[in-house]
Formats: sequence, structure tokens, C-alpha cells
Amino acid sequence: MKNWGRFFSLGILLHLALFFLLGNSPSLGYSLPNSVSFPPARSHPLPLSLEQWQNPTGDYFDRIEPTPLGYLVWSDFPVKIYLEPGDRSTDQKWSKAIRDAIAQWSVYLPLQEVTEQENADIIWLRSRPPTRARIDRENRQLIIPRARNAEAKYAFYLRSQTPPILAHRFSILLSPDQNATHTLGTARHELGHALGIWGHSPLETDALYEAQTSNPPPISPRDVNTLRKIYEQPTQLGWEIADS
Ligand SMILES: [Zn+2]
Repeated sequence: MKNWGRFFSLGILLHLALFFLLGNSPSLGYSLPNSVSFPPARSHPLPLSLEQWQNPTGDYFDRIEPTPLGYLVWSDFPVKIYLEPGDRSTDQKWSKAIRDAIAQWSVYLPLQEVTEQENADIIWLRSRPPTRARIDRENRQLIIPRARNAEAKYAFYLRSQTPPILAHRFSILLSPDQNATHTLGTARHELGHALGIWGHSPLETDALYEAQTSNPPPISPRDVNTLRKIYEQPTQLGWEIADS
């Protein structure tokens, strides 16, 4: 039975990898073996901290994009966060900024720093994202975009338990070269993405504002309203893959 499970897990993973590469919706483009079925999209219970949150200032939920598997909602709390260790001379500012950002978002969702990368949900890496140059087809010039300070990426996987759970994991590259204020502002913004806010606010008073500002804003009531609305949405993440 174990081998059978592995075989199908591998199959699902390959299919998942394929449709993420091709950008297809999970209901299209391929078929799974008859005996395994994807979980239907359902909403998870709201974490208590979000359930108790009430604020009338509005949100920017219409700017949030669901993934092919639904909204990027965590459902197994606390969310486990790992920080890449550094040497003593450089470690302080970078990890302090991330720990401050974790403390600020912890008011709304249970978060916990862990020392093992293997079991972490969100992994922070101490490096600047690569600059991806491209060729402008019309005038054949090389376009080199402005260097970015951070990049958050998610990937889907099957969490190995019986039955397996459709899960996601984030990795965030955060430059160690910014000053303390901007490292914190960027860490707060990227952690907002990793907690589910997969989109940007049009207002510069929100932590998830689309551009970097000289004075990074704190988490705003609109950020939390948006987060709460995301956590009310249905998702296929966090549910069991079932034998049918
Ligand atoms: Zn962003």
C-alpha cells in the first residue's frame, strides 16, 4: 500500500508541476488516476484573531489574485517560519527586521519561528533577487530592470501524511543590503504576501502598497480587512487528497 501511495503521490506531483509550468487550471489539461481526487475548494475556519477583527475602513480584496488552487490561505497554525542563519557581523539587522515583521503580523495570525528549514512553511533567504534582463523585440535593446530588494515565491506540494494534504510553501529572498527601516518595511510587505495577500494595494498608507516608499507604512486596518476576507474564501489548499 505504501508503494502504491508513493506512486500516485509522484503522479500527482508531476501533474501539479506540469500544470504550474503550463499555467493551466487544475480542472483542465490533465486527468488524475480515477482512485485519487483533488479536494474541492472549501473555506477553513477563521483563526480567532481574525474572527475577532472588525474595522469599517474598507479593503483592497479586488486586487488579490487566487492561484489555480484557490487563495493562499494557511490552515495549520502556527505558521512555521525559518530564517537563514548568517554570520555574526551581518546577522543582526536582517533577522531583527524579519522578527519585528513576524511580531507585527502575529497580532492577526499565529506565527512561530522554527530552527529547522525542512518543516518550515515560510523560508527567508538572505540574498538579493536575481535581476532578469530581457530583450525589447522592437528596438532589440537589452532592458535591465531596477534591482529589487525582495521576492516572494510559492510552490505547491503534497504534505506526506495519511491521507496527504495539498499544501503550499513560501520562500522569500530579502536583500541584506538595505538600511534597517527599509529592511523592516520590505520584510513586513513580503510577509503580508506570504500570509496570503497575493496582490497589491493602490494606497501608499497600506503595508502592501505596490511601490517602495521612503517611509514604509505599518500594517493598516485595510491590510487586515483584506487578509480577513482572503481567509474567508474557499481554497483547495490545506485539505486532504482523498481516495474516491
Ligand atoms: Zn509586493
